[in-house]
Amino acid sequence: MDIGSMTIEEIGALAKQKGWPAFRAKQVYGWLHKKLAASYDEMTDLPKAMREDLAAEYPLWMPQKVVVLASKIDETRKYLFRLADGNMIESVRMKYRHGNSVCISSQVGCRMGCTFCASTLGGLVRNLTPYEMLGQIYAITRETGERVDNVVVMGTGEPLDNYDNLLRFIAMITDGNGLNISQRNVTVSTCGLVPALRRLADEKLAITPAISLHAPNDELRKRLMPVANSFSVAELMEAADYYVETTGRRMSFEYSLMEGVNDTPSCARELTKLLRHRKCHVNLIPINPVKEREYRRSHVTNVLQFQKTLENEGINVTIRRELGSDIDAACGQLRRHYESGAGGEGGEL
Ligand code: SAH
Repeated sequence: MDIGSMTIEEIGALAKQKGWPAFRAKQVYGWLHKKLAASYDEMTDLPKAMREDLAAEYPLWMPQKVVVLASKIDETRKYLFRLADGNMIESVRMKYRHGNSVCISSQVGCRMGCTFCASTLGGLVRNLTPYEMLGQIYAITRETGERVDNVVVMGTGEPLDNYDNLLRFIAMITDGNGLNISQRNVTVSTCGLVPALRRLADEKLAITPAISLHAPNDELRKRLMPVANSFSVAELMEAADYYVETTGRRMSFEYSLMEGVNDTPSCARELTKLLRHRKCHVNLIPINPVKEREYRRSHVTNVLQFQKTLENEGINVTIRRELGSDIDAACGQLRRHYESGAGGEGGEL
């Protein structure tokens, strides 16, 4: 395991094995996860021999910035990072009144195959390690000099398809020996892997769960999301209810609106019926058109009408405010663009 993915206890075991005094474990952990060191050279209060030993055996790699797109309208920043093995991932920093949010990737690519999403076009390459998930937040914190208050696991990848690493990531990002982000400020979004969602409920974390629903019935959902062939909307709703009962947290449902596909008045009515009696929040997201896909963004009047239908039945709805519309590359497009070589070291998106 890479050292950045180790818990403080695991580093303690390593120290013991190496014959280093026990307090070194906390020191190393603090350098990695509180001071966000990117190299052992920065760990100035460790003996030189120890640093050399660590560098030889546990090379450190913070995601390397390849491209940053900075919005001129708001302070949104989109990052393309290179990992140690050359794979690239994307992260986004958004600025809200209540603080800085970072949206991280959980996998290189994705195998869920949602038909409107760019992240899945090349399939799954591999899972990210806990430290690669943390590293996106650390690299952005280092670059901006600003604390990250909220984390959303909503970038490329299906977090529940990388379950163990996700859980370790959550434990470490919320650890008092690290950045100490409150569990409530960590959102995990899933396309609806029902067994994993139930398992996550049983962890009894205070994180904010989100389900990408995008359709109110099986027939339409199957057209948009292959995962709907494995789990019905009814099964997903049962798992969502189980999550809410077990943790007391409110469920967020994401619904990306595609013109003429899932934004019709009848879809709105069906969705209302489905969610009316549930403790939840609905996030309407005007779709980000992906060039390889034919979906178009819903007209604004349809979006507002859709919202109204839900609100009239007392459902909590927000329309996701668009940030960084001048750097509006949909999730996964930045990576695709650069990996295809189309833009070399930076062509037009
Ligand atoms: N796999 C997880 C998390 C990553 S996707 C999930 O499915 O929830 C994050 C969110 O963006 C999901 O709701 C996803 O359906 C949505 N999404 C993907 N591509 C999109 C696009 N082109 N426009 C709008 N939303 C999109």
